[in-house]
Amino acid sequence: MLNLLMVFLMNGIDYEVSLLRDLVEIDTDVMKKAGYSDCASLIKEKMKELGLKVEVFDPNLADGIKRPSVIGTLDVGSDTTIGFVTHYDVVPPGEGWTKPPFRLTLDDGKAYGRGAADDKSAIAASLGAVNIVRDNARFNIKIIASPEEEIGGEWGIGYLMRMIGINFDFGIIVDSMPNIVSIGASGIVQGEIKVVGKQGHAGYPHRAINPVHELSKLINEFEKFIKLREGKLSSADAPPGSPKKKVWGRLSFTMLGGGIKENVIPSEAWTRFDMRLLPEEDPEVAKKEMLEFFESVKNVIKGFATISFKGTDRGYLTSPTNRFVKSFVESTKIVFGSPLPLAASLGGDDGRFLADRGIPVVSYGTIAEDTNFHGVDEYVHLKDLKNVRDVFVNFIKRN
Ligand SMILES: [Zn+2]
Repeated sequence: MLNLLMVFLMNGIDYEVSLLRDLVEIDTDVMKKAGYSDCASLIKEKMKELGLKVEVFDPNLADGIKRPSVIGTLDVGSDTTIGFVTHYDVVPPGEGWTKPPFRLTLDDGKAYGRGAADDKSAIAASLGAVNIVRDNARFNIKIIASPEEEIGGEWGIGYLMRMIGINFDFGIIVDSMPNIVSIGASGIVQGEIKVVGKQGHAGYPHRAINPVHELSKLINEFEKFIKLREGKLSSADAPPGSPKKKVWGRLSFTMLGGGIKENVIPSEAWTRFDMRLLPEEDPEVAKKEMLEFFESVKNVIKGFATISFKGTDRGYLTSPTNRFVKSFVESTKIVFGSPLPLAASLGGDDGRFLADRGIPVVSYGTIAEDTNFHGVDEYVHLKDLKNVRDVFVNFIKRN
């Protein structure tokens, strides 16, 4: 019975599974970066076999480590080019695997291995689509396979977008889920609130101002601001399973510190926060609102409170009425019988590198929620590999 199931599932995805096997066997651990060149060479060869024009870009950083990004182009003479963005680096395997992380194991409709889902199956699905549709493509295609995504993408897709100026008319970040089409991601504002009190002996609290106690009062006050943020709703839907229908504003205090010894009331205490914005929200406006709230409550405490902002990342939102988005959703309908829902991500994603350049972008891919990506025994469902490839095939064929 299991064997029959395997035969059924493997039907029509031999090319993809064989490519995935070759890719998984190269350890492209983002921390070691040792397999980058070998993996890039493999991808380059596979692209050439499909008749793509191949270019390789390396930022040539001072550390001497190679970080090759491979771009394969199918030029059918269209005035429109679609970009498929993938990454070949992986996170370290970690301990506790029951299957070898750098060998593809097929079992019960799944293919196991580090990167089997995130994100080597994306390379297999994208090249697999071109393999099928090459002679019927309506658009020019660019398939990008970069390293460094797992540490932020600055020297992978970021380098290609910002410094090389790679361009296309519509992008698909093939590094996402198979059951929704993501059209945006939340922005981020991070920072710190610090309270300075007056240091003293814990036996004599009346002579000190305890910043730990005062900071906790301040954090309590921020519950009102968190409620306020929660009331802000995006025009974009939240992913299925979220507590709200639309993407909403979020604020979390995520780090806490202060003090040197149990019997010393410290002079300072601090907390750090992570505020998630609506995809379409301006980070500067969000910062200003938080600052104003802080100013309105900082005097409820003794001692002296300050706020500072650190990391900021703008979110993005692609219009659901964009013609490529509509066509992409139609392609999912052909494969699944009904169109997949559009939603914006609660986290961030690499679409920002494209959105920054004004390129409309969606995220879609083979990484289902249950695939243990970044965990032990990572796998991809073979049916997802096939479906995602087929969505791409239909999209490339459509006008
Ligand atoms: Zn990924």
